[in-house]
Amino acid sequence: MPFDPELDEAPQLLARAAGAAGARPDLTQGGGGNVSFKLSGERMLVKASGVRLKDVTPAGGYALVNYGNIRRRIAAGPGGENEFSDFIRAQALPVKGAKPAVPSIETGFHALLNTVVIHTHSVYANILNMSAEGYALGRELFPAAEFVSYKSPGPQLCSAINDRARASGPQVFFLANHGLAVAHAGTGGALELNERVNETIRRGLSLPPYPGVEPAAGLSGRNAARLAHYGRNFILENILSPDQFLYCGPEALDGKGGTEAVNEVLTALFYILDCLKALKFTPKFLTKAEVSCLGAMKSGRYGAK
Ligand SMILES: [Zn+2]
Repeated sequence: MPFDPELDEAPQLLARAAGAAGARPDLTQGGGGNVSFKLSGERMLVKASGVRLKDVTPAGGYALVNYGNIRRRIAAGPGGENEFSDFIRAQALPVKGAKPAVPSIETGFHALLNTVVIHTHSVYANILNMSAEGYALGRELFPAAEFVSYKSPGPQLCSAINDRARASGPQVFFLANHGLAVAHAGTGGALELNERVNETIRRGLSLPPYPGVEPAAGLSGRNAARLAHYGRNFILENILSPDQFLYCGPEALDGKGGTEAVNEVLTALFYILDCLKALKFTPKFLTKAEVSCLGAMKSGRYGAK
């Protein structure tokens, strides 16, 4: 019998976590970020690929997967990019009244952690994740947190998280050049932990308020001005995150194509670069090899998160 979302509280709790994280452009931009909720020892709800966090509802926008199989696969060595992604897709189970959904590319590491996982591309965490000084400072602010060096999204990142993951207890992961993941036994606890980490960084570094993302047909006025300040070539040649690489290519910087996500990602990027400059921190850009690895993923199965 397929899972019936109307007979279970979990889809509502999942949508609550997704709504809280997804409503904030300082925490999630474009299709980035994801949340999950474990129903049992084997079953988990996780944001569907290509769905924005704010569009997850109790009735849809998520996939039901057998995360027990995913954990066992990662423990055995997840294998290559495409095989791992096909394996995760194959773990999707039917949900009553919902169209078949593809689980997020990041489902793998959700499977490894406590009951509720909130993963965002928080600009505050990323100020630590994207600077040379951030690691030491992060260790000071969050002595119990885990700091994972940069891995491309997919099997490599899952293996790195698997080495430090605990199936119970609260946990905070800083993912270099990527984002933040918090895990907790309950939705309220996970939301509070997520908020506490972000506020600790904001206050600790006296960060300025996050600018609003103005709706615009092309680039927003603010983004166009910051792009002129840093220079188009600088932004194309210096990549801080997979999101920057995927969303902010030459055409996007010219204001062509769908621009809502581009404006969100650029606003985050410029906020981070501006803060690093004000703090006199050194940005830690991805290496050429890391960027070319993302290029291969972009033309492969990785696209929407
Ligand atoms: Zn992510």
